[in-house]
Amino acid sequence: MDGDVLAGVRKWQWAVVGLGLLGSIGAQAASAADCPGHPDALGTSRTLVVDPRAHPRIGSMQYPETLPVEDHEVVLTFDDGPLPRNSNQVLDILASQCVKATFFTIGKMAQAYPEGVRKLRDAGQTIGTHTQDHPLSMDRMTVEQARQEIEDGIASVKAALGDDGKPSPFFRVPGLLRGEGVEDYLASQGIQIWSADFLADDWRHISSSRVYELAIKRLEDRGKGILLLHDIQARTVAALPRILNELKARGFRIVQVVPATPDRPATPTEPEQWLSYPASETVATARWPKVPGFDFAHAGMLPAPAMSDLDLQNGQVMMLAEPFDRVKGLLGGAPATRHALWPQPSPPAPDNAATTLPVAASSVFELQEGFRVAERAFAPPVRHAELASEHEEAISRKHGHNGRTMRGKPHPGHIRQAAGHAAPHPAHARHGPLKHLVQVRKRSV
Ligand SMILES: [Zn+2]
Repeated sequence: MDGDVLAGVRKWQWAVVGLGLLGSIGAQAASAADCPGHPDALGTSRTLVVDPRAHPRIGSMQYPETLPVEDHEVVLTFDDGPLPRNSNQVLDILASQCVKATFFTIGKMAQAYPEGVRKLRDAGQTIGTHTQDHPLSMDRMTVEQARQEIEDGIASVKAALGDDGKPSPFFRVPGLLRGEGVEDYLASQGIQIWSADFLADDWRHISSSRVYELAIKRLEDRGKGILLLHDIQARTVAALPRILNELKARGFRIVQVVPATPDRPATPTEPEQWLSYPASETVATARWPKVPGFDFAHAGMLPAPAMSDLDLQNGQVMMLAEPFDRVKGLLGGAPATRHALWPQPSPPAPDNAATTLPVAASSVFELQEGFRVAERAFAPPVRHAELASEHEEAISRKHGHNGRTMRGKPHPGHIRQAAGHAAPHPAHARHGPLKHLVQVRKRSV
């Protein structure tokens, strides 16, 4: 069985899902005007053909490269399906706008609802995979364990598609919990890892309106890129029509991504187009000298918290969010910037370091969902009202801000993280960028 799966993986030649998709690529690149019965549809503006072997890791949240889309171009992705109740609605909504996306399906879901995978194929959507069981531990797995998860997931999707179908060699790590061994294995198999450029937090307990707001705001902030959503979430179903309508109104264009095949060469691109953060004359850091040995991908290798760290906070059960939070925390929220990785001076260690974390910038306070950040300065304390940040929450939980896991000086990861924020919050600025500490507590109401 294992041998068969491996052989199947190695035989991949960037096949897309199903023969029908091969023949319909041209039709997928339809403009809104070509969407029958929907003259005002968003449409899919073009198809981008990529070679996974040339670009094995993409997504600016974690990697130096991302998809080479132009300004105002968006690639939609949906994870964790198929779950008929919600996934079918997502498909219907996308169909009503003639929008093509990439779906990262879970093997167990494909086994349970194989017809859902076939619906994706029949709709001309791109199908990637997302492991067999969706383990939130790929950053800690052995390569063999990861290989099993990856290949079982592929085999399950392949089985759902039948003899003629294969998933695309696109893979998303559950929770974006990347690991180098896993990445190297996937690259060796010619499978492209998709991180993301921004999230909409649709796995969290937030309203569909909030999902919509986050999706649009983060897209506007970055201007283009890969949006990660979940087709299994009812709030995503509810938010999706508004998101698509707003994309249309704001002049964004949808790009579908498919893998190159011997008969379909990759879309010509320049290497610079793949850079997550291309050099810019207007960004001062772009003119800084490069740091020898700098590796952006290592940002995701900071210590991960044990699940036991997530259970209790001041005697209260904390919400367990999917570990995208860890990634967001490590990279400064969305959109991430390279600034996070430049070495900066360390803040002095206060006596109460075990219960505090370094200051973060204003950008992390923009995401207000159910958490209050109480901040404390060395000098007169400053308090914000109703500031929130899953970002801060993730960092604080990761490093045990309740004092159970931190002792003495702040963890180096905190320092690097904190130093990464481009600008201090205005309140922080009054006391200097490195003189504050923040502490996150769960809202009591
Ligand atoms: Zn997932």
